Amino acid sequence: MIFIKTQILTNSSADLACAAQLIRQGELVAFPTETVYGLGANALDATAVQKIFAAKGRPADNPLIIHIAQVADYASFAREINPKAQALIDNFCPGPLTLVLPKAAGLPDNVTAGLDSVAIRMPSLKLAQQLIELAGVPIAAPSANTSGRPSPTCGTDVLEDLQNKIAAIIMADSSAIGLESTVVDCTTAQPKLLRPGGITLAMLEEIVGAVAVDASIQTFVPVATPKSPGMKYKHYAPQAKMSIWEELTNAEIIEFIRANLAHKPEVGLLLSAEVAEKLGAVACQVQVWGKLSETEKLAAKLYAVLRQFDRAQVSEIYAQGVPVTGLGLAIMNRMRKSAAFNIIKKI
Ligand code: AMP
Ligand code: MG
Repeated sequence: MIFIKTQILTNSSADLACAAQLIRQGELVAFPTETVYGLGANALDATAVQKIFAAKGRPADNPLIIHIAQVADYASFAREINPKAQALIDNFCPGPLTLVLPKAAGLPDNVTAGLDSVAIRMPSLKLAQQLIELAGVPIAAPSANTSGRPSPTCGTDVLEDLQNKIAAIIMADSSAIGLESTVVDCTTAQPKLLRPGGITLAMLEEIVGAVAVDASIQTFVPVATPKSPGMKYKHYAPQAKMSIWEELTNAEIIEFIRANLAHKPEVGLLLSAEVAEKLGAVACQVQVWGKLSETEKLAAKLYAVLRQFDRAQVSEIYAQGVPVTGLGLAIMNRMRKSAAFNIIKKI
């Protein structure tokens, strides 16, 4: 890996102009969005796109999302937008929704990993829109983390993984949503959810009726060629072995901790406020996540907590699952992958 001194930029107009120029020159710039921080390159420049794969250590068969600053640009990079896709664009874009559409001519092969489809998103964060606008080109941007690690929700997380591997980073506020965008395949008449996120299944179905759900979202499906190639890779993972409690009551989780973990300082516990309050003192490193009903706050905090456990060098993580409804589907999808599907359902 080549050493490049990473410029730390702010959201000032002069710094944004500098970031846009770096993008146009084929360099990598990390920038905030409402979902997570992205690692951006000129999506029309195959050499620049290649640098994203190198900096992240991302497998070449995992395609990137193209970020645009105008709703009209969906039509510039997709060769067809069917009526349901158009309805989703009309209702949720800009925002945390990525649509997979038939790919238009003119985009390099590596940005879509050779597929005939392209993933496109218009972020709602003004700063991200300004950067894309100023760059004057669409920006290919996966999450700005080393491949396999939890996605970055603040600038410090990005620097932890990518400092001196990328030209610049725009340091700004933490990402409000904290989970990657919802991905919906709109290449067929019936849309299919490929990755759950801030736009929930219920929100999608309210607009377009029934949406199919890819099998890999809730369960471990070891398929060689999933519809969304990124889903076959290890993802969102902390360094420690992680396990999730699912379908256990708060009382059962407390019993499990007292019987097996309470005396172990090297264990990290990710607990709801409800469980943490009743548990009392333990030797473990406890992170109080939030109230189980406040799913937006839980989503926003998940990756930060996993990175915190990495910094504390815990040897094992036990995390409390959340109900798989609404935003809970996205939270559990990421947690199960973080935990490599180590799920504890009985005490
Ligand atoms: P990331 O940019 O790291 O958030 O990952 C982007 C996600 O979108 C990955 O899971 C990709 O596999 C998926 N994706 C990107 N482009 C396509 C596409 N053309 N078809 C299906 N999935 C895609
Ligand atoms: Mg990612």
